[in-house]
Amino acid sequence: MATQPIGYDDTPFLPDSQWRVHDGKRPQPRIITPGTASCPEQPGQPPSDAIILFDGSDLSGWKGSNGEAQWKVENGYMEVVPRTGNIETKQHFGDCQLHLEWAAPAVVKGDSQGRGNSGVFLMGLYEIQVLDCYDNPTYADGTTGAIYGQYPPLVNACRKPGEWQTYDILFTAPRFDGDRLVSPAYVTVILNGVVLHHHQAIMGPTGHRTLTSYDETRATTGPLMLQDHGDLVRFRNIWVRPLKGYDEA
Ligand code: MG
Repeated sequence: MATQPIGYDDTPFLPDSQWRVHDGKRPQPRIITPGTASCPEQPGQPPSDAIILFDGSDLSGWKGSNGEAQWKVENGYMEVVPRTGNIETKQHFGDCQLHLEWAAPAVVKGDSQGRGNSGVFLMGLYEIQVLDCYDNPTYADGTTGAIYGQYPPLVNACRKPGEWQTYDILFTAPRFDGDRLVSPAYVTVILNGVVLHHHQAIMGPTGHRTLTSYDETRATTGPLMLQDHGDLVRFRNIWVRPLKGYDEA
C-alpha cells in the first residue's frame, strides 16, 4: 500500500494538456507482457496485446484478391504460391507496430528484381520491399527494405538467402481533412535489428516506374498485404499492435 500520494497536484500544466507535470491523476499505462526476440533459428514470442496475423498454423486471417488465400502453409511458415496472387489480412489497420519474418528461397534463382521478390504493403498501398539483396545488385530504391520507388534503405542489412530475417515496422497512417492531405504516412523500418528508415514521410502509394500522390487515396486504414511476385518467399510470426494516443486505454 502506498503511504505517500503518487505524483503532484501543484505542478504546472503541460502545454495543451489537461495533465500537470507528474500528475498523480494521469491514467496509468496499460500493463502488457512483452514477448521475446526472434532469431534466424526460431521465431520469438509476440507481446501479450498483439493481434496475431499468422502464427504458422493457418491463413484464416487472410484472403486472396479473389476469394481464399491460396498460399502454402507448412512447417510453421507460409510460402508464396506463384500466380495465386497477393494475399491480405481480413482486418484493416492504420497506425501500428508490425512484426514479421521472411526468408528468400535458399536456392538462388534470377537476379535483380527477379530474385526472392515479394513485398509488405502497409494499408495495401505502401510497399516495403522484400527481395533477396544478398550479393544481388538492383536499383537502389528497389533494394530490400526500400519504400519502393521512393527511398532506398539507409543500409543493405540482408542475411543470406534461405535465412530468416525480421522486419519491425512503425507506421503512421496519413491524415486527411476532407480532400486535403493534413499529413502524409510515416514509416520507421528495422531489418534484422538495423534501422533502414527513421520516421520517413511516404510520398504516396508506391508504384512501379511511376510517381504517385495522395490524390489517389483518402484511406486512413487498410489491410496488410503480402505480394506474390512469382518467387517462393516465406513468411512467419506476423503480428501487429494498433497504436493509440497517450492516455488512451
Ligand atoms: Mg516487391
